[in-house]
Amino acid sequence: MTQIIDTDVLVAGSGGTGLAAAYSAVQNGAKVTVIEKQGQIGGNTKISSGFFAINSQEQRDAGLKLSTKEAISQIAEYNHYLSNGALLSKIVNTSADTLAWIEQMGMEIKLNPTANTTQFAHRGNDYRGGSYHMYQNKDNSYHRIEKTLKDAGIKFIFNTTMKDLIVDNGQVKGATAEKDGELLTINAKAVVVATGGYGGDFARVSKTMHTNKLRRLGVPNNGEGMTAMVKAGGVDIDSHALIHASQLAKSTVTQNTSAKHLAGFSSNPLTQLLLTPQLWVNKKGVRFANEDVVYDTVEWANAAWSQGGEYFFIVDQSTLDTFTNNKNEEEVSEAGPGATKDGGDFTELAKEAVAGKTAFVGQSLDELAENAGLDQDTFSKTIAKYNQEVAEKNDQEFSKSAKSLLYPVKNGPFYAFIAQATYLGTVGGVRVDENLAVLDKDLNPIPGLYTGGANAGGYYEGHSYPAFEGLASGFTWTSGRIAGASAAEYAIGA
Ligand SMILES: Cc1cc2nc3c(=O)[nH]c(=O)nc-3n(C[C@H](O)[C@H](O)[C@H](O)COP(=O)(O)OP(=O)(O)OC[C@H]3O[C@@H](n4cnc5c(N)ncnc54)[C@H](O)[C@@H]3O)c2cc1C
Repeated sequence: MTQIIDTDVLVAGSGGTGLAAAYSAVQNGAKVTVIEKQGQIGGNTKISSGFFAINSQEQRDAGLKLSTKEAISQIAEYNHYLSNGALLSKIVNTSADTLAWIEQMGMEIKLNPTANTTQFAHRGNDYRGGSYHMYQNKDNSYHRIEKTLKDAGIKFIFNTTMKDLIVDNGQVKGATAEKDGELLTINAKAVVVATGGYGGDFARVSKTMHTNKLRRLGVPNNGEGMTAMVKAGGVDIDSHALIHASQLAKSTVTQNTSAKHLAGFSSNPLTQLLLTPQLWVNKKGVRFANEDVVYDTVEWANAAWSQGGEYFFIVDQSTLDTFTNNKNEEEVSEAGPGATKDGGDFTELAKEAVAGKTAFVGQSLDELAENAGLDQDTFSKTIAKYNQEVAEKNDQEFSKSAKSLLYPVKNGPFYAFIAQATYLGTVGGVRVDENLAVLDKDLNPIPGLYTGGANAGGYYEGHSYPAFEGLASGFTWTSGRIAGASAAEYAIGA
């Protein structure tokens, strides 16, 4: 039997976008129903660390003089003006106000000092690092937010998956959903689809990103909302995986490799080698980037993606000994989210990685190349050139800093570890206007349809996530808030 529910505004999904949309719609006088696939609120937003905002009270109190004008122009330039300027401007200009608004909802949040940024490349950069406001005591914060919303009269239906939109004569009039095998029809005057992209659908992500080598993190958002919006006439202009840092490869050979935390972002000391600017080569043995990008999660992931999402970092026995003896002088990046500073027997760890087939070893460079499937001649030329650059402290190819040209690759055995770019769900999506109305192919709003967060297109460059901390999570709340107000206005003429 199909259950039928009537509401003014239906919000599908209760991550940051859905929560903000629901609260702003109810504040604007609408009757609001939220359906959520999982048994709890939060989605990927609850896993995320922080919120990009410019000119917040805390920034002013800290003496930071940040202008939204400058932030907008920096992001637009980063995006090569491919993003929707009107949307970008509205989001950045309302970010500080939205931050204060979510604090009133119950979120505890604190400005992160630029000096403490996990992305060393952003140290001292107030626009890229000083914009980061970090969520505190998340369980308590989300508990308070849920209470605020329920007290405001918002009805939540959990464990309920939106399936499709109800479209009548070009107008969106609700959605169908499924709860415990039963169908629900939710009639609504306006719908905000806040289902957070499709990061849980690995096949779809692999198709968009042209590789199946990415590692993934996040809740299983499978893209029903995005698919339904496209079916209703929306245009997916720029959805893509939010690639962010790289991880050690996960062994498919031995469960122990994972159990011992040799894979993924882990506290295993081996991660220190991943998070320092060792020599990187692609699957052919060609060096491809200034390895100092390891200090910025976005640039690092982008460099990895440029080679198909996977690369090797190369170390010799002397480098392993240096790390084992706690004599490493390279700064260990905390990007993504960092390694333990504890010591360890790096040779033993390397051997375990080899046993798990997430690394290869060779007594000679040729043997390593053969075992790792690299082109021997190319690899040997790469190593010779790199060793010369280390000796001269001068990277003629990629301008790696002299202080990172520390470890030549000279004394066997030699190791190649597999690293894989990682993604945190998807971002981008269907084209929207600055009110978060979903537009059809002729750029006309589809009546009754709104979205935001990881379903909305036009805030990013297309395939690269801008290297400003907290941008996606901040966009989520701010776009959701605008979408909720727009939906309420459409639904009840508030
Ligand atoms: C591990 C991780 C760390 C991150 N860290 C940061 C960070 O520090 N800073 C930053 O800016 N960004 C970060 N991001 C990205 C950012 O969190 C997301 O882009 C953003 O939270 C997306 O918000 P959203 O509301 O659109 O989606 P979500 O927060 O994912 O919410 C979507 C909700 O919809 C529900 N849902 C899905 N499908 C359906 C359906 N069919 N029907 C009903 N409900 C459905 C989901 O269960 C979920 O609750 C991170 C992402 C991850 C995964």
